[in-house]
Amino acid sequence: MSIITQAEANEILNDRKCICGNHKGDRTAFCHRDYFELPYQLRQSLYSRVGQGFEEAYSAARDIIEMKIAKREQI
Ligand SMILES: [Zn+2]
Repeated sequence: MSIITQAEANEILNDRKCICGNHKGDRTAFCHRDYFELPYQLRQSLYSRVGQGFEEAYSAARDIIEMKIAKREQI
C-alpha cells in the first residue's frame, strides 16, 4: 500500500469527484456509496485531519474501494 502525500490529500478533499467517478461532497474522501461500503473503523479514521492520520486512512480505504470497483465492473 502506498500512502498519499498531504498535498494529494488536500487535492482529493477539494475534488468533487470520487475515484469511482461519482460525484462526492466537498471536503469528503469518497462518494456515499463507497464510504458506506468501508468498515466502521476506517470510516471513523477518515474524519482525521490531514497530517493527523487522514493520509493513512484514505490510502487504506482506497485499496478496499478499488477492489470493490473492479468487482462491480465484472458484473
Ligand atoms: Zn465512489
